Amino acid sequence: MNEQTVHDVIIIGGGQSGLATAYHLRRNALDVILLDDQSSPGGAWQHGWESLRLFSPADASSLPGWLMPRGLDTYPSRQEVIDYLTNYEKRYGFTIHRPVHVYAVKLEDTLFLLMTNQGEYRCRALVCSTGSWSHPYLPAYAGREDFSGKQIHSATYTSPDEFAGKRVLVVGGGNSGAQIVAEVSKVANTTWVTQQEPSFLPDEVDGRYLFQAATQRFHAGDPRPRANLADIVMVDSVKEARSRDALQAVRPFTALNQDGVIWPDGSQESVDAIIWCTGFRPALQFLDELDLRTPDGRVEVEGTRSVKQPGLWLVGYGSWTGFASATLIGVNRSAVKRLRKSSAFYKESSRPFF
Ligand code: FAD
Repeated sequence: MNEQTVHDVIIIGGGQSGLATAYHLRRNALDVILLDDQSSPGGAWQHGWESLRLFSPADASSLPGWLMPRGLDTYPSRQEVIDYLTNYEKRYGFTIHRPVHVYAVKLEDTLFLLMTNQGEYRCRALVCSTGSWSHPYLPAYAGREDFSGKQIHSATYTSPDEFAGKRVLVVGGGNSGAQIVAEVSKVANTTWVTQQEPSFLPDEVDGRYLFQAATQRFHAGDPRPRANLADIVMVDSVKEARSRDALQAVRPFTALNQDGVIWPDGSQESVDAIIWCTGFRPALQFLDELDLRTPDGRVEVEGTRSVKQPGLWLVGYGSWTGFASATLIGVNRSAVKRLRKSSAFYKESSRPFF
């Protein structure tokens, strides 16, 4: 299907960032549609592991306009977040086309032309809110292709069951690594591999505290967070693992071979599986034809607006598109507020209709 309509705004991505953006834009009487390549609502939360819970309570994890319902457990489960996002998009009646995968964006005179698996779409202004889940990062270790055991990224990890009784390496020292080590170590012989000693937050520090502390410093003109948002939050499963002394980490191996890994002292160890908890890159490959991306896959922005391409906006990719913007609460406060100022959204773009 090739749509003849020229939309005012297309938002690529129907996760929390796309929904928060649509919420703010709906006040401007623009024709806004969202394109999302999943078959159901919830964005990346649909693919988290079964036991995943938020590290901040419901009232500190809400999108604009509608609090995540009270009465949920203190730290909502992954399914509760999916339900919230599902009801959020119903509540505001956004126009969302699913599943539509955008694989390229081109310029057609003053319009954006989107090439998708469902045909072409056109718009005057384009917002990217595609997150990073679909673009997992794997570090380039020599011999990685030769390893004959199982390798998965945390992006597709669901539960420890398939690792029961195996020798497993979990690579990566962030929250994903810690939470996956916590549950895999209950059923498997597990080694945790991190670049540096993992950095654990005090037990009483949860996501709400982290966000408030960082916000205070930000408003005081000091953007350096006292606690890093990437430091490990001591959720119950991680505390439990600490009580079993299962959180000892070692520094990385130098290479892989068919059977396992080679440690810096030259010794070799056989392993059955490696779980890479090594992060993600922005899922922006569809912008390649516009030649805007830097070597690390980002786009140069001022706030959320592309510096080089008029009419192009990026929301929710982390600190480079707004303070804490890759969190449920942060995507509203830091990134989308800029879009809400319609004067900025209109005037800063040179698209004809603005
Ligand atoms: P996504 O949720 O990834 O949504 C983007 C959507 O766009 C997806 O549906 C995707 O399939 C789609 N898409 C991508 N490319 C295309 C394309 N080319 N065409 C069409 N559609 C496309 N945040 C918190 O606030 N609290 C927490 O406790 C918390 N815990 C986390 C725990 C883990 C393990 C992880 C990984 C993240 C956590 N986060 C947490 C972070 C954050 O909330 C998520 O990363 C969030 O999913 C980002 O939302 P998004 O809308 O930007 O991206």
